[in-house]
Amino acid sequence: MKSNPRIVVVGAGIAGIEAATKLHHFGFSDVTLLEASGETGGRIAKAQLGKSWIDTGAQYIHGAADTNPVYCLCKKYGLLDDVPTEEGNWTVFSDKGSKIDSEFAECIYEAGEGIIRHRFQGRGERSIGAHFAEKALELVRTGKDNKNAKQEEGILSMVGKDLLVDIGATDLNSVSQDSWKYFSASTGTDLNIEGNMFHLVEKLLEGFPKERLLLNKPVSKIEWDRDDAQYPVRVIFGDEEIQADHVVVTISVGCLKAEASSLFSPQLPEDKVKAINDLRFGTITKIFLEYEEPFWESDVSTISLLWEGESPGRVSADRDDWLRYLHLFTVMRPQKKFGNVLIGWCAGNVAELTETMTEETLSAAITGHLRTFTQNQSLPAPKTVLRTKWHSNLYTRGAYTFLPVGTDGETMDKLAQPVSSRKDTGPELQLLFAGEGTLKSMYSTVQGALLSGQREAKRLALHYNKTEPPNNACALPPQEP
Ligand SMILES: Cc1cc2nc3c(=O)[nH]c(=O)nc-3n(C[C@H](O)[C@H](O)[C@H](O)COP(=O)(O)OP(=O)(O)OC[C@H]3O[C@@H](n4cnc5c(N)ncnc54)[C@H](O)[C@@H]3O)c2cc1C
Repeated sequence: MKSNPRIVVVGAGIAGIEAATKLHHFGFSDVTLLEASGETGGRIAKAQLGKSWIDTGAQYIHGAADTNPVYCLCKKYGLLDDVPTEEGNWTVFSDKGSKIDSEFAECIYEAGEGIIRHRFQGRGERSIGAHFAEKALELVRTGKDNKNAKQEEGILSMVGKDLLVDIGATDLNSVSQDSWKYFSASTGTDLNIEGNMFHLVEKLLEGFPKERLLLNKPVSKIEWDRDDAQYPVRVIFGDEEIQADHVVVTISVGCLKAEASSLFSPQLPEDKVKAINDLRFGTITKIFLEYEEPFWESDVSTISLLWEGESPGRVSADRDDWLRYLHLFTVMRPQKKFGNVLIGWCAGNVAELTETMTEETLSAAITGHLRTFTQNQSLPAPKTVLRTKWHSNLYTRGAYTFLPVGTDGETMDKLAQPVSSRKDTGPELQLLFAGEGTLKSMYSTVQGALLSGQREAKRLALHYNKTEPPNNACALPPQEP
């Protein structure tokens, strides 16, 4: 066994960064991190808007507790210091021009969430949409004589539409009811650390040798199981190449779906190809709207638009009625840091559509839309519109992985399995896989991506009998191999 194997990590998102830095930390000194774009971070990304930097990718810590490595790291790096501690208020405007009583809205919303987030333990054969339709419609029938029945329906439908954003899907009927079957029971609520998440990437990279991080190097071919070569793997990018012992592939499931057949030579084993085909990769768009003056009250953190009587029986984003699926706006806080900025959220095919629109079209449509709901015809247009394009970004091709009906989370285990030589005695662990879509207990999250990178670094460390170095600042939960 070589004493200092050569390792290439493909992709400098959080999974690749964690894999590379951990490998380095374990004492592997021949580690190169290759990134296709000109930036590190992947789906943790930043842009400048007005006077501040904003997170155009991830911004929430899902399950903010000390058991969450992302929370723990952010705390360690002081990235939580300016995060507002109070939650802020929720304002719901109805299409009939009224404001919905927030206590009533919260009560119905919670009931809807209880239904939709139920953790099933089946085999993924039913959709969240089918389950939600059945149970939410039961709830609607119970309250049908109630004078607020139409608002109740609208709120339940909104619960479903919000979930589309969380999943990145177009239609809840396509998403497995067992999506959270393997999720670790999360302690802690979601913490919005907008404007701070991208700093985590910078902090994690601090200890990694700069000359080993190569930007603007899109990998076009990974040849593995090469005969008679000193190194079993060859990674080709532009007119350059690195021959290596191991390659950790961290590109998104969206990229694997689009490129695996041309990227790997020979083709990946059949079960790996099947896993890639079976998983789905959803998308969302964040539309940042910067205003001269806020039209919302200073204590508001979320604005939702409600269509009274909209049925929760079928939650499916519709491109022809796209504004109906741009119903959720969050206020960037603190105001003194960001100014007056809202983020509009949309998912699936509506997110794809908004990527093709001009800022002017978006601005006019959203302003008209907000004027109708607020009954305020002088509501101003935003002075700046900045919208993300995760779906058309060739190096991400969407936002996050989800489980379609009929696909169990174990598919992610198959994707995570390393690939060794096809010959009995050939080199082992030639291709390793990390990234959010490879961890069934935390997929679609930053912590899932981070832990998957760590998992692969540990796999190689174990293979080479390297022991865990001391001084591991954040104690992380043990991971499945
Ligand atoms: C808009 C949005 C909002 C989100 N919000 C949250 C949130 O609030 N909280 C949360 O926990 N998660 C959120 N997520 C999900 C989270 O960002 C991801 O799960 C996580 O960042 C994925 O990291 P990764 O390393 O697995 O993949 P990526 O970040 O996609 O990294 C893969 C890297 O590979 C590079 N690459 C691709 N192809 C090649 C190639 N051929 N050669 C070399 N490099 C290549 C890419 O450029 C990229 O840098 C959000 C995602 C998006 C898009």
